[in-house]
Formats: sequence, C-alpha cells, structure tokens
Amino acid sequence: MHNAKAYAAASATSPLASHTIPRRDLTDRDVQIEILYCGICHSDLHTVRDEWSSIMPTTYPCVPGHEIVGRVTTVGAEVTNFKPGDLAGIGCLVDSDRTCPHCQADFEQFCRNAIFTYNSPDKHLGGITYGGYSESIVVDEKFVLRIPGNLDLAGVAPLLCAGITTYSPIRRWGDIKGKKVGVVGLGGLGHMGVKFARAFGANVVVFTTSPKKKEDALRLGAHEVIISTNADDMKQHAGTFHFVLDTIAADHDINAYINMLGRDGTITLVGAPETPLQLSAFALLFGRKSISGSLIGGIKETQEMLDFCGEHNITADVEVIPIQKVNEAYERLAKSDVKYRFSIDMASLKAV
Ligand code: NAP
Ligand code: ZN
Repeated sequence: MHNAKAYAAASATSPLASHTIPRRDLTDRDVQIEILYCGICHSDLHTVRDEWSSIMPTTYPCVPGHEIVGRVTTVGAEVTNFKPGDLAGIGCLVDSDRTCPHCQADFEQFCRNAIFTYNSPDKHLGGITYGGYSESIVVDEKFVLRIPGNLDLAGVAPLLCAGITTYSPIRRWGDIKGKKVGVVGLGGLGHMGVKFARAFGANVVVFTTSPKKKEDALRLGAHEVIISTNADDMKQHAGTFHFVLDTIAADHDINAYINMLGRDGTITLVGAPETPLQLSAFALLFGRKSISGSLIGGIKETQEMLDFCGEHNITADVEVIPIQKVNEAYERLAKSDVKYRFSIDMASLKAV
C-alpha cells in the first residue's frame, strides 16, 4: 500500500479539500496510472452532496472522479495490454465478477457485483474505492481503456463517462441517419450527445432552458435549438421526433418531451435526478411511445466509443481548471454554467 494525494469531501456539506488516500500495491494484473486529467461529472456532485442517498448513499470521505485519463507508470507481471508510458483511461467501473450473464455479454455496468470507481466497496483494501481527483490510481487491466494518441487529453477525459453514456443509447437506437433526434439539456452529457447524434447522421435538435447556449449548440452540431420554456416552439415540434435523449440532472416535466415523440418514438433517460419524475400514462398511450433508461456502457463498448472518437476527432469541449478551483466549478455546475465540461488538470495537485 502507498499513499496518494487527493481531493475529498468529508461530508455532504463540506467543500472538497486536500486529503491523502491509500492505493494498493500492484497485483500481477494491475496497472498503475499517473492521472493527468479528470472530468467533473454531475454524478460527482450528486454523490458528494449525497443527493442519491436513497439509492446509493455516500460514504465519507468521498474522492469523486470517474472520467480519468493518464499515463501508465507501472504494470503487474501478467499485464499484457499496457506498458509504462502508455496512455490509459478509467471510466465509472474498476471491477465486476466477470462470470454473471451481464459480464459475459460485455455489460459489466449491470453486474450485481460491479465495483464503481468511487464510493463502492474496495475488496483489496477494505473501505470504499476512491476516484480520479487524485494523483494516481491502480486498476485491473481489464477495466483500463486504450486512448487514441491523436486527441487532446483534457477533452478525452470526459469521454470516459459523458461520452460513453450518450454514445451507448444512441448506438442502441440503431440507424438514426436522417431521423429527427432530440437531446435535452446542453451540459456535459448533452453536448456529447449532440456530437455523436450528428456523427451518426441524425437531424439533431437541442432542447435547452438556457437561451445563451443556442449559438454553442449549433456550433457543436445541432441543426436546430428549441428553448424549452417557449410553449409555442414546443408545440410546433410536438409529435415529430424519432428519439429523444434526456440528460437533465434535476426534476423536470418529462411528459413535455414525451409529447415531442412521433408514433413509436422512444425517450431514453440518462439524467439521474434526485427525486422521482412524474409520468403521465396518457403521454405514452397516444402514439404507442416508449420510455427507457441507459447506464454508462460496458468496457468493450467504451473502447469502441474511444476508437470512434479517435477516428472522427471527437472530444469534449472543456474548461480546464486546477484542482484548487474544484469547489467553484461545483457551484457553476449546479447552475448549468459550464462550457461544457470541467476537466481538472491534475498537475495542479503537485502544488498541494
Ligand atoms: P450537467 O453538465 O449539469 O448537464 C445537465 C443539463 O441539464 C444542464 O446543463 C441543463 O441544460 C439541464 N438542466 C439542469 N437543471 C435543469 C432543470 N431544472 N430543468 C431543465 N433542465 C435542466 O450534468 P451532466 O454531467 O451532463 O449529467 C446529467 C445527468 O446525468 C446527471 O443527473 C448525472 O448524474 C447523470 N448521469 C447519468 C449517467 C448514466 O449512466 N445514466 C452517467 C453520467 C451522468 P440547459 O442549460 O441546456 O437547459
Ligand atoms: Zn459520470
């Protein structure tokens, strides 16, 4: 075991602050990574503030961060896919049982024994896992992703969660070429959803509550932008969408977006608000519409997404910050004020 510098929250109401965490000694299958950048996901904020206490209560101190990109420093004796000096990524998962039907089907995210990158039981050291707001991490190579060498690393980090979480449902929805696809909420997930939907040839429409994001939405790849608070605009587009991806992090009227769907259309939720959403059965009945959910993606699909991003030059639009600004960043994230993901430059931790 060795110590690593990190930033942690001591309670649901404390700011993140400098902290020291243990990292395990390498097993034969482990990879040690020096973390270069870590994205700030809204899930980090939900977890730090214990907003998901009814489903996944937070254990403190909590070191968040599951959008990790870095460089391999050491590998265990049996590691075959990585060597020191390689770029490497870690997303939301660091382990699973590898034997259950979900794991066998490459859906480790649904494994009942999945270990998440932070706030999950740590079977090596006891206690809980600690995430990427840290100088280094040790992970089994099966859960380490290869990073295309041609991309800006600060913008790659958010692909590990925001990227795969939007890529996966968009891919699952089949051929969306030429079809009208809505992305609701232009934040970290939403802006990646726009880029992927556009890359797969959809007619992309952004729904936003923030009129000032309109120009950016168009630049990011949207063909059209609807200000969701404008009832006339909403009415005009009702019943015209093939697929809608809802990324909203807070309570909202989901029925308004179901009303956007055409016959047999589907809305997929990836946003995870603290409180349950109210669903009108009638919104689904008329038009035989469907609602579904999606959770990140398995390791195989995450690698596929990263390779796709390498081929198509896709990264997140990031505001790079030092770790010392993380609490300010959380305040801005809570107000939907980020363009469009914060990415922490972990070199700043050296000064702590
Ligand atoms: P984010 O950057 O804060 O983006 C969320 C966007 O939702 C905001 O930018 C805002 O967009 C919109 N929004 C926020 N509050 C709203 C409200 N009260 N009413 C309407 N719109 C509102 O967050 P994120 O990192 O993209 O994460 C989004 C959600 O997905 C979070 O709940 C997060 O925990 C969850 N998540 C789920 C998965 C998964 O696997 N399913 C993975 C990662 C994250 P506009 O300003 O454009 O309106
Ligand atoms: Zn996330």
